[in-house]
Amino acid sequence: MNNLYLTNSLTRKKEIFKPINKENVGIYVCGPTVYSEVHLGNCRTFVFFDTMVRYLKFLGYKVRYVRNITDVGHLENDADEGEDKISKKARLEQLEPMEIAQKYTNDFHKVMNTFNAIPPDIEPAATGHIIEQINMVQQIINNGYAYVVNGSVYFDVSKYIDQGYDYGELSGRQVDELISGTRNLDGQSDKKSPNDFALWKKADSSHIMKWDSPWGKGFPGWHLECSAMSSKYLGSSFDIHGGGMDLKFPHHECEIAQCVGSGCEKPVNYWMHGNMLTLNGKRMSKSTGNTILPEELFNGSSSFLEKAFSPSVVRFFMMQSHYRGVLDFSNDALLASEKGFKKLMEAFSKLKKTSFNQGKEDENIINKINSICTSCYKNMNDDFNTPKLIANLFELVAIINTLDQKNSFNTIGAETHLFMLKTMSGFIEDVLGLEAQNKNHAQLTEELINMILNLRAEAKKNKDYLLSDKIRDQLTSLGVKIKDGKDGTTFVVN
Ligand code: AMP
Ligand code: ZN
Repeated sequence: MNNLYLTNSLTRKKEIFKPINKENVGIYVCGPTVYSEVHLGNCRTFVFFDTMVRYLKFLGYKVRYVRNITDVGHLENDADEGEDKISKKARLEQLEPMEIAQKYTNDFHKVMNTFNAIPPDIEPAATGHIIEQINMVQQIINNGYAYVVNGSVYFDVSKYIDQGYDYGELSGRQVDELISGTRNLDGQSDKKSPNDFALWKKADSSHIMKWDSPWGKGFPGWHLECSAMSSKYLGSSFDIHGGGMDLKFPHHECEIAQCVGSGCEKPVNYWMHGNMLTLNGKRMSKSTGNTILPEELFNGSSSFLEKAFSPSVVRFFMMQSHYRGVLDFSNDALLASEKGFKKLMEAFSKLKKTSFNQGKEDENIINKINSICTSCYKNMNDDFNTPKLIANLFELVAIINTLDQKNSFNTIGAETHLFMLKTMSGFIEDVLGLEAQNKNHAQLTEELINMILNLRAEAKKNKDYLLSDKIRDQLTSLGVKIKDGKDGTTFVVN
């Protein structure tokens, strides 16, 4: 189905997607720093990349999705000095740093599962890849792009630029701007220039998380883990690297420099960045406390909300805006999403429940449905345009409701009925990851029987009476009695 286009943050252009290996796609997404609960802003980024991975799989690609866990090296203020975020929390809560990391990793998994996000194929943790990180630092030193001072190792940005590399290519920042924008923090005197960043930091005696290295006891710099782990699991050049917009600088800019410094010319083909979720117009962020936790949404305890909202409604709300645009969170926006979500799922359920029956087909409506269904692919192929996809789904909702009112589902023919069903279930459930609420076994049974009856109607249409009779007999033996009537096939379960 057509070509897929995506916006590459590196070139700032919409580009056609061509994976390195035709059918396989390698994706790396920066995961959370596990020192506190993930907030809804973090979830927006992870839910978007989940949708993207889902769509690539839906298109038939074999995806290797790697999303890491940052459990060491991320210092306060995202800087090269200060306390490790996880160690600090461990000190405050009087726990082992690994207890903190485990606790919030568990919380993250629970939240992602609640949002119906598919777990990554590999979820590497920084502390589990210290050897790989030390090796990478050594390579960068050997290649002349890093220097050792007092047991710490820094990346030499000037050297990198002198060799003709564009530090700032991804974030669009100029080095002069970086210098003037960098505060002279304590300890930066170790660096030759404030632009340089830590690859390995010497640990003093107060540090809990530290490892032996050729440069003494220390710990890896924050950016290093992602370079070391992405190249380990996806190769030194891979397809897509994602994360939130705020990670472009310094994190991703430094990742590129590290990979290039260690010998790979082009580590990532497509850089993708999701925009921020805001609350009251300000970025949702742990450090400012301007946050909502997913749990507060699901149980309605947040002071920003009138009531609780289900995970699928929240997911739907996120998908109603394009990933590259800012999304502002509010009670009213969620109420509107809830209404829309309900309308969509009700129509979808109607479509699933209708057992198809032959009748006089209406070419106009058939063409219209086919064109809308094709448009769903077109819009997702256009840089994962979920709001336009949702608009297409609502066009189908309007058709379903009219057909239902007029009791005229038979006018669309078996083939289009099936295409519409496949398109809707594919995009709603497989791609957008939305789940109908409170589905019980009785509902599911009814939907399954209707699905089988639709297959039987198709068999009949193809004059495969052997198969259609076999389906009827087997249903009868399971206690499902079916009756073919003028208005379609009905059934009773004994
Ligand atoms: P962190 O745990 O701070 O490293 O963040 C984990 C992910 O959440 C990163 O990809 C961030 O870019 C992303 N993120 C943080 N705040 C927001 C926000 N307000 N909206 C969307 N994504 C965010
Ligand atoms: Zn990262």
